[in-house]
Amino acid sequence: MTKPLIGVLALQGDVREHRHALEACGADVLEVRTRADLERVDGLVFPGGESTTMSKLAVAFGLIEPLRAALRSGLPAYGSCAGLIMLADRILDGREDQQTVGGLDVVVRRNAFGRQVDSFEADLHAPRIVGVAPMRAVFIRAPWVEAVGPAVEVLARVEGGPRTDTIVAVQQGNVMATSFHPEITADLRVHEYFVNLVRG
Ligand code: GLN
Repeated sequence: MTKPLIGVLALQGDVREHRHALEACGADVLEVRTRADLERVDGLVFPGGESTTMSKLAVAFGLIEPLRAALRSGLPAYGSCAGLIMLADRILDGREDQQTVGGLDVVVRRNAFGRQVDSFEADLHAPRIVGVAPMRAVFIRAPWVEAVGPAVEVLARVEGGPRTDTIVAVQQGNVMATSFHPEITADLRVHEYFVNLVRG
């Protein structure tokens, strides 16, 4: 699979930014809005945005069960920010009726970094993605990962910013997620990492 077809869940959120980053990494991109779209893709990105809205739309469009089934059957997936929430098996501080697709055995706290730091940038320690150099990351009303199951690997922790050592990127098999938004920076390394995961 030299040029994988990667879907971006296009219900809400920063779909275009992910599309551009994935295309820059050599992937073909399909915006996924239907079950038929979902069946075509080799991997799927859950964009940043608002997870309560994304969840509501996924239910309304009859996509939540097909998405769960796709993840269960091994579709590689990457979620940023709201996408991390969508991929978490368990969430804290979600809306009462908020559903997730799941796939990552993690507990994620929504809006965890708090109001006073709605947005911030921080350096990350992310050896699997970038080696020893720190990676600059942008957080916008970001969730953090509060607990991880035994099969989950921590990809990154924050080194600076409002709270150090917090887990902000995880991977379980071919499903990965970040609290931050690489799609809105010029740094393509997280998307490259995911495209390679899809290529297998
Ligand atoms: N706070 C948002 C949510 O709960 C996530 C923010 C984002 O994706 N930038 O979904």
